[in-house]
Amino acid sequence: MSRFALSRYSRCFSRLKTLHYLNQPFAPSLFSSSAASDRDGACQTGPPPIRVGLTESAGRAVFATRGIGAGDLIHTAKPVVVCPSLNSMDSVCYLCLKKLMGSPKFQDRGVSYCSRECQENAKGFNDVETRADSSSFADYCRTHNFKYPLMVKRLCCMIISGALPADSLDILQPAALSSEMISKIEDGYGLLWNAFRKANFKDDDVAFLTKQWYTAMLARIRINAFRIDLVGGSCGEDLLSLAAAAVEGEGAVGHAVYMLPSFYNHDCDPNAHILWLQNADARLMTLRDVEEGEELRICYIDASMGYEARQTLLSQGFGFCCNCLRCQSGD
Ligand SMILES: [Zn+2]
Ligand SMILES: [Zn+2]
Repeated sequence: MSRFALSRYSRCFSRLKTLHYLNQPFAPSLFSSSAASDRDGACQTGPPPIRVGLTESAGRAVFATRGIGAGDLIHTAKPVVVCPSLNSMDSVCYLCLKKLMGSPKFQDRGVSYCSRECQENAKGFNDVETRADSSSFADYCRTHNFKYPLMVKRLCCMIISGALPADSLDILQPAALSSEMISKIEDGYGLLWNAFRKANFKDDDVAFLTKQWYTAMLARIRINAFRIDLVGGSCGEDLLSLAAAAVEGEGAVGHAVYMLPSFYNHDCDPNAHILWLQNADARLMTLRDVEEGEELRICYIDASMGYEARQTLLSQGFGFCCNCLRCQSGD
């Protein structure tokens, strides 16, 4: 067993479905966004210097295919599904989560966007969302302070609008759900299903939305969604200080699910970091020099916490006990 061994099961993955990704350099068009790179001024060309492979103990993992310097951008990633948090709905772009303070707002059917482009790109799912009255579902989310069901709702609207296939998140590993959680999930499913049923969508268009599908998506989003804290700034800023700022950042503006970033394993003393500058486009960067072949890992939680607090959070939130070098040392 590797000395980096993590005894984990939650963020492992479906090996069969993932095999075709393994040991392949990633095409930028699949997992990183050249558009985001251009906008942020990053000079990223060609595939990112990583491959996804298997480890004996932790399932899939991301490895560097060449040496990468400290503070370098590894790749960017566009969210598959992204949703503002309930208390950020009025202050960030409904699609990309960019803060709206001081920016022109583009309003459309009660929600605001940072640009005409975001408004256009959201039109498909917003048409579906507007047609279905999901106020009871929204009340249910607000009452319980649930954020992930809102992401499943947006995913549903994207699927109905034809923007995504219903199996888009199947590759991600689901969380184990308790029977108590499942009964709450079923309440939400009933409300969402009713909203779409009353809106008279074609049976074929909503056939995917079974209780099993809804529960499976929620189980995947629960452990694969990233909480997004924007740190602002520009590419010229020191990315290591931005990484530090992200930990101290204000409340989350929303949550998003990505593909490639979900394949990074956890470490309490990570060599990589995920951060967001202006919007939900994620940037994966190194925190120190990384050698060719080294596994790239991020920290899923606040690394400044003590050993016991980290273990509790990782076990309850992600379903594994961390056995990274830092944890082994008892720090
Ligand atoms: Zn936007
Ligand atoms: Zn650890």
